[in-house]
Formats: sequence, structure tokens, C-alpha cells
Amino acid sequence: MRAVSLKAGQIYVKDDAPDPVPGFGQVLVEVKACGICGSDLHFAKHGAEMLALGREMGGMTVLDPGPELDLDQDVYMGHEFSAEVLEVGPDTVAPEAGTLVTSIPILFTPEGALRPIVYSNEVAGGYGERMLLSAPMITEVPNGLDFRHAALTEPMAVGLHAVHKSRIAPGEGALVLGCGPVGLAVIGSLQLKGIDTIVASDFSPTRRALATTMGATEVVDPREEPAFDAWMRAGGAKPLVCFEAIGVPGIIDSVLKDAPHSTRLVVVGVCMETDRINPFFGISKELNVQFCLGYDPMEFADTLRAIAEGELAVAPLITGEVGLDGVAGAFEALGNPDEHCKILVTP
Ligand SMILES: [Zn+2]
Repeated sequence: MRAVSLKAGQIYVKDDAPDPVPGFGQVLVEVKACGICGSDLHFAKHGAEMLALGREMGGMTVLDPGPELDLDQDVYMGHEFSAEVLEVGPDTVAPEAGTLVTSIPILFTPEGALRPIVYSNEVAGGYGERMLLSAPMITEVPNGLDFRHAALTEPMAVGLHAVHKSRIAPGEGALVLGCGPVGLAVIGSLQLKGIDTIVASDFSPTRRALATTMGATEVVDPREEPAFDAWMRAGGAKPLVCFEAIGVPGIIDSVLKDAPHSTRLVVVGVCMETDRINPFFGISKELNVQFCLGYDPMEFADTLRAIAEGELAVAPLITGEVGLDGVAGAFEALGNPDEHCKILVTP
């Protein structure tokens, strides 16, 4: 089959990628749409550093990443997908052929190992014609929802998870720093939770407009007004939860420095570089810091339902659509925040 591969830093379309065959517990699907994620852009450029950091880290027991990834071999990516069932594996209960589905990007091998469908030399991802999913992980797309919108379940679930982790409650307010796909997902979930003061900050006018569409009550260009000044003006005395969705060095420290007393900082932006903070800022104001990543299966299912019910309007976030041959160009184009938010690959 045809699939996009990252090999030695180059993205190309491989015409003879291995055809996946469903084993016990697995389902073969045809990919309908797969969103390009910022983490894939980062991995394409800095894969070796990411793998090195992963090797340093202890305490990661949830997923078995499988054999060590070889960046000089084909690496398959794509974890924000919707797909149509083609064939159900032996002795497996799953939706019948033709059903539109999505899934948490985790594949059980027939032996029971858990493999992330994120970067792999072996497990096919969403940037290809076909892939395997695990029957127990599959969620049917509710009747009539466009497969393009269903593909946004995964990135939007990241926002719902961050909002849950923040334990924000009605009466409290939010400041969202950075309105890329992650920040916008957070804003959408805050609005669903009924948070009535949502201040959002981004340099890009396009992204600020999307923030308003997703439910931000106040948007600010931080070059014109510092984000925390905008918060004080709009949110005032309310308890503050600040969502950091930028993920570059220096942001966490600047939040610690500028945030009001007792602010809860939720770090959802993924910074892959070493960063420095002044603990004195956090201590002086008794700040709370929560890092978060991903979502759980309930959050994933809730997000799909909210999209299907029209509570979470994801259509404006889709700013482009390419075939497999357009993926390399799309990776380049996503570098410009004024032009794009989410580009879908429709193989
Ligand atoms: Zn992603």
C-alpha cells in the first residue's frame, strides 16, 4: 500500500509499504482522514533528541514502545484519524465492514502488548491508505458526522483532558496562552464547561479569530497588551487557571513571574528543550503547576460525542486538506501560523 514515511529526516511517499493484516483482536481499516499534529512536525526535525530524552526518563510504565525506533528506516506516523472498517480479524468482535470509526491511537498486538500508533517502524499510522486498530479501542462515529470532523476527536480530547486536570469550576476564569490546535482545543472545552471568562492570547490574528470562534470571551495580541494585564482587565478578582499552550523555553518562568497569587498553571504546551525557572516566583505566590498530556478513553468518547452533537464546532479549525503526496508540503506550510491550523491528510 501507499504510506507516508519519515526516513533519515526526509518525508516521502512509499509505494510498497507493508500491507497490514489483522490478527486476533484487530481490525483492518481504510484511513479516511488524519490530522497533522505539531508533535509530528517536531519529531520530523528533532526525532533523535526526542528519543534520547525518552531513554533518560524513568517511571514510564504504561506503554510498551516496542523495539527501539530506527530513524534511518521507514517511520510511520499519524495518530489523529478517522477510518472505515474493511476487515475484522479472526475471532474478533468489532463493527462490520463499512462502519466509520475512530480510535485512541493504541494498538494491542495479538500477543497483548500495547503499541502506540504515533511513531513506528512497524505499526502503520494514519498517513497511509490502511492501518490496524484494536477492536476494544474502536469508537463508532455517530451517524452522519463528517469523517473530517471525526478526525479532530484526538486533538480536541487533549483540550478536554487539560480542562479536567485543571479542576476549573464555574466562577473561576481562564487565561489561555497560545492559540494553536492545543490552545484552541482547551478553549473549546472551557466553553463546554460553562467557564464564562476565557481570555486568549496569541500573536496571530488568524488564531485569535479562531479562539473567538471556539469560545474565548476576550482575545489579546500580547505585543499590544501583556496577557496578564488583559486577564486583570477582563477577569479581575476571579481565581485564575492559566493554560500554557505555547511550549517554548521561558514561558513557564514568565507565567510564574506575572501570574496573580494562587494561580493554577496547567502546562499543556510540549516544550522539548531544557528550560529554567525561578522557584522563588512560585513560592512567593503559592502557585500550582500541573503538567498534562493526552486523555483517557472516556474523555476521547465524550469529545467525539460533543463534536457529533455540534457542541464543539471543529470545522473552522480545518484549514487545509492534502493527499499523501501533499504531506511533505503540508509539514512545511504548518510552520506559518497565520495560514494554517489543522491540515488533514485524506489518503
Ligand atoms: Zn497529536
